[in-house]
Amino acid sequence: MARTIETNITEEDIKIEGSLRPRYLSDYIGQEKIKENLRIYIEAARQRGDALDHALFYGPPGLGKTTLAGIIANEMGVNMKVTSGPAIEKPGEIAAILNNLQEGDILFVDEIHRLNRQVEEVLYPAMEDFAIDIMIGKGSSARSIRLELPKFTLIGATTRAGMLTAPLRDRFGMIHRLEFYTVEELQRIVRHSARVLEVEIDNGGALELARRSRGTPRLANRILKRVRDFAQVKYDGVITEEIARTALDLMDVDKLGLDHIDRNMLSTMIHKFGGGPVGLDTLAAAIGEDAGTIEDVYEPFLIQNGLLNRTPRGRVATEAAYRHMGLKPPVSE
Ligand code: ADP
Repeated sequence: MARTIETNITEEDIKIEGSLRPRYLSDYIGQEKIKENLRIYIEAARQRGDALDHALFYGPPGLGKTTLAGIIANEMGVNMKVTSGPAIEKPGEIAAILNNLQEGDILFVDEIHRLNRQVEEVLYPAMEDFAIDIMIGKGSSARSIRLELPKFTLIGATTRAGMLTAPLRDRFGMIHRLEFYTVEELQRIVRHSARVLEVEIDNGGALELARRSRGTPRLANRILKRVRDFAQVKYDGVITEEIARTALDLMDVDKLGLDHIDRNMLSTMIHKFGGGPVGLDTLAAAIGEDAGTIEDVYEPFLIQNGLLNRTPRGRVATEAAYRHMGLKPPVSE
């Protein structure tokens, strides 16, 4: 069964996200600090008639990194070319992409931590000097020629800033971490999406969806769509708090937005490992999930909500985790 709260993008999202994506900074809800910074940078670059500094956005999936890149392109009035780390296999491919950019364009590279070394090395001079070095010929007659590039802006997105190499990270003028959204911000996002999708929802309904969206706009939008279907089939179409609650309970998304995988993780920590500390790989093996996915997707939200702690000796379930699972926390010595 597909996870309702899968934060990575699905085909269903692609269909609806286009219309729901905010296009200008003023429509982008939340992430106030980033917006404030971007406003200044964009204004300054515009005044100078210059391209924007390279920017890196990092944080869990679905928080609005791609959306921000699109907004920057709109605000700067330039084109954006979208690609991703795993999509570029050879140095020649990135060279061709760079060579096709126009002055001021944005190149958005999703999952930038997954670029391979050779491709990354093409990016260094491209980002720093707006040039690439191309090797011509073979063996002893091989020589490198330098190709000038238009001044462009690279925007990288990653769920793991820690996996970027230092030389790549150092070439970004701006590095911003996206935060989980507050319930109030998500409520505004839900209301806005409901207007666009022509779904009727009352305040209580929007609040309930916001509470159970794991601080993540992508989930808020997806849950809205699912609950709308439910409201349409079973009720008269208006999403109220009660309908939202019933629908989400049925989808196995609990009051905090956790689903069976999150709860399985907490319960495994508690029942099999005495609440921890348990190493990430051991935990991953015990619940049959990929360690990287646990680190990028599940864990950040559990940590943010005080259900899990990361310690040097491993992951620990907190007292709040015990209580959330309906258990009595162990008495601390
Ligand atoms: P990421 O690139 O971080 O995985 P996206 O930028 O694709 O996330 O965002 C997922 C969806 O969530 C977008 O299509 C958009 O509809 C919605 N979204 C993200 N951030 C916001 C925001 N700040 N305000 C309103 N909607 C947002």
